Amino acid sequence: MKLGLIEQPSIIPTEYQLLTSPTATMSLAKTAESSPNLSVSRSEGLYLYDDSGKQYLDLIAGIAVNNVGHAHPKVLKAVMDQVAKHAHVMVYGEFVQKPQEELAAALATILPKSLSCSYLVNSGSEAVEGALKLARKYTSRKEIISCVGGYHGSTFGALSVMGNELYQQPFKPLLPEVRQMRFNALDELHQITERTACVLIETIQGEAGIIQPEGDYLAKVRERCESVGALLILDEIQTGFGRTGSMFGFENYGVTPDIVLLAKALGGGYPIGAFCSSNKIMNSLATDPPLGHITTFGGHPVSCAAAIANIDILKNDGFVEQVTDKGALFKELLHHDAILEVRGIGLMLAVQLKSADQAQKSMDLCRDLGLITDWFLFADDCLRIAPPLIISEEQIKFACTVILKSLDQTN
Ligand code: PMP
Repeated sequence: MKLGLIEQPSIIPTEYQLLTSPTATMSLAKTAESSPNLSVSRSEGLYLYDDSGKQYLDLIAGIAVNNVGHAHPKVLKAVMDQVAKHAHVMVYGEFVQKPQEELAAALATILPKSLSCSYLVNSGSEAVEGALKLARKYTSRKEIISCVGGYHGSTFGALSVMGNELYQQPFKPLLPEVRQMRFNALDELHQITERTACVLIETIQGEAGIIQPEGDYLAKVRERCESVGALLILDEIQTGFGRTGSMFGFENYGVTPDIVLLAKALGGGYPIGAFCSSNKIMNSLATDPPLGHITTFGGHPVSCAAAIANIDILKNDGFVEQVTDKGALFKELLHHDAILEVRGIGLMLAVQLKSADQAQKSMDLCRDLGLITDWFLFADDCLRIAPPLIISEEQIKFACTVILKSLDQTN
């Protein structure tokens, strides 16, 4: 439809016109020079469908988002019901919005008591920003410690605590007073001192290619934080909501943080994040000055409704309990000369190949064969396995057969 507009010749030189449509004169910004050319028309359960109707089994769940599967009927119903009531009405924290209150209550049923106060935001990165500010405000200290290989998002605060120089370099200067220690290095915990406001780490490093904390590392970090009065912030943005076989990754290691960061799978496919702590810590954002963190769309009622339904499904539908066995089945089936290792926990796995080139070729072949997998930001020689948790045994077998077939052709 033209809507009566007169068509203008493009003023953008042809080489800069991205071909989203043959007649496009403007286009979406890209995040890289090339990306998989898959135009999604529909998604349901474990499957995505492209414009031609081709079906793809989704092994990455939008990067650990769609834990209950795509378009879960209970999530859809909750969204439709809320859309019919109201969408945005006011900036977070001002009016009483029932979906926000109900989501905070639902989160309190699955988190430890000391994390039962939730501040709702839009995304993982915003949860990181809010938590870093909260830690500085509560402790009146400045230093932040994170880990080499850590990924916490793309905003300036989150980028400042990223443990990868390549991605940080072009955007410097970043936040001052950020130090990094090596993940799993007990001999570097002495860096956490009375000057430290907080230690921010992923419970399991995701973008580094699924690196688990070894032995009692997390407990030792917790102990050190306590002894110097620093807050421990655990980023559960990838590990949360059943992905590791427990509702939260930290349950596997017997450690409770002072602040936990949530996003991705929280919303059952809809955008929402949260940082959660005790009332005592969280209250420091509300005084001297008040409004220490303001967010217009944070805790959007429609996303809250989706998140409440999502938590209900995860708590009651019984598939989180099967995640460990499903992960074990992947590990059992994925044997090939090209595979050096399959590491990870539950349905948060990395298939270590010999090179990035091999991983790229394998991903492309898998896509041709109707399977979506991916790489990791800091580990491009691995394939990512993070499917919806409702994946069936048959679907796991199909996925592994396709991966092995792709490796036959790339090895
Ligand atoms: N933390 C972790 C561990 C993540 O994996 C991500 C996203 N990949 C983020 C934070 C940032 O989340 P968002 O993209 O929603 O800002």
